[in-house]
Amino acid sequence: MRCDSERGDGAAGSSSWIMATGQAWKLYVAIAGLVGGMVLFSLALVSLISGGTRFVAFVVCGALLSLATFVWFAAVLCCHHCQAALVWKMIASRPFNSWLIDLAALERCPACQAVLAKTPQSREVGT
Ligand SMILES: [Zn+2]
Repeated sequence: MRCDSERGDGAAGSSSWIMATGQAWKLYVAIAGLVGGMVLFSLALVSLISGGTRFVAFVVCGALLSLATFVWFAAVLCCHHCQAALVWKMIASRPFNSWLIDLAALERCPACQAVLAKTPQSREVGT
């Protein structure tokens, strides 16, 4: 899987490497997908309470959307230097309750040790 080649120079100096490398849109799409999943679960609950017949359909769609969103997010959020899928790396190496915080706070790629806030194209951007 190839990481998109955003230049990321528009957000230089951002607090998170995700913003600095121009991958924030992936985070926003993932949040939208997970919110959509939660909406579907809420609709399932409403359907169950109101005696509707679409409970199972809403639950299945909500689960599929949430799962697909998470798998996509884990695959596309990557290091610009070595293309490592950083979400998987963090899930595999960090405690369940802190991998997301550790991921957002990364300064160096755990695979290649490159500084994440700098993309290959923006290493020596002048003033
Ligand atoms: Zn790397």
